[in-house]
Amino acid sequence: MTDPGQPRLFLSPPHMGGGERARVAAAFASNYIAPLGPQVDAFEADFSGYTGIPHCLAVSSGTAAMHLALRCLGVKPGDVVLAASLTFIGSVGPAAQLGAEPAFVDSDPATWNMDPDLLARALDHFAAQGRRVAAVIPTDLYGQCADYARLLEVCAPFAVPVVADCAESVGARFGEGHGAGDGSRHAGAWPGLAASIFSFNGNKILTTSGGGMLASADAGLVAHARKLSQQAREPAAHYEHAELGYNYRLSNILAAIGLGQLELVEARVAKRRRIFGWYRELLGGLPGIAFMPEAATGRANRWLTVMLLDEDEFGAGPEAVRLALEAHNIESRPLWKPMHLQPVFAGRRMFGGAVAEGLFRRGLCLPSGTAMERADVERVAGIIAETGRRAKAQG
Ligand SMILES: *Cc1c(COP(=O)(O)O)cnc(C)c1O
Repeated sequence: MTDPGQPRLFLSPPHMGGGERARVAAAFASNYIAPLGPQVDAFEADFSGYTGIPHCLAVSSGTAAMHLALRCLGVKPGDVVLAASLTFIGSVGPAAQLGAEPAFVDSDPATWNMDPDLLARALDHFAAQGRRVAAVIPTDLYGQCADYARLLEVCAPFAVPVVADCAESVGARFGEGHGAGDGSRHAGAWPGLAASIFSFNGNKILTTSGGGMLASADAGLVAHARKLSQQAREPAAHYEHAELGYNYRLSNILAAIGLGQLELVEARVAKRRRIFGWYRELLGGLPGIAFMPEAATGRANRWLTVMLLDEDEFGAGPEAVRLALEAHNIESRPLWKPMHLQPVFAGRRMFGGAVAEGLFRRGLCLPSGTAMERADVERVAGIIAETGRRAKAQG
């Protein structure tokens, strides 16, 4: 029952705007086929201009950016790093790789992001044990900003730095007004954050095929990260190393793609939000279907449209719907499996857990690529609705 005539509909494929080719051609023409060069410099400057975060370092991935941020904050063996459980492994892998002990915090049901009250409980817990919490990592899940203001308020008495995982939230905003030119700010640009990281992986809203950015108001932190990203080379004609670094720079060719993508990011956000609106219009009235809420504290970019299914009311659960879509050559995906349920983090401390577990059980990420048109969304929604109807008729 596959649709051989229909091209595969991917979850979130790259969407080139056209300007990328000229930028890549310019990089070729200059022969800066290297992990440094004018396109990297321009991409960092443009990204800084777009987000309003003063210092930006382009690197090879979002995970690399997180690794550098935590290393520059002095995360070391014996420390605790608190992260949202409902996230991608790239958020927390680097903390563990630096020898710290990751511990996890459940989601706030209203935003699906790190629950500030549970974070407070976690910080009290480790303070009572005399453990140093070296960083707190909230994730802007599916392109919705975590409540930076409240999280920072909770962390302030403990003097714990907050690193925002904005891998999914390019183009999202936080704060009053929600649009450029008012009181709101770009994701990760909130005053008080120690650093923010972004991902330009192939499935993200802005892609360089693979890449990332470390951004911060702290010039010293970004300068140190820049040095570490280039094998920690000391300023000398020969190769001199006083500390160990990494090879994390972004290719100049890939930065050229990023420059082209950045020109279109506001239009891409508008399209993702429109796609979300179409899904909600077509499916929101069906029993047992709900969508990820949008917090009053910001503007989500709706990177992925995420649907929740109540199997009793709808008839079918998320896995049945995923398989039905797959049979029509349409890709959908479960939510991130919470970190506290991952075998690699077995036995780690978790504060709360029922919210993230419930979302993982009931949720499904729907195709949300910005090249989709209304007819594509109608096709996906039609299959979803039909799956529920059939399951009910059989049940
Ligand atoms: C994509 C992603 C990352 C990691 O980004 P890479 O560029 O793939 O290393 C980190 N955190 C979250 C939440 C992500 O979605």
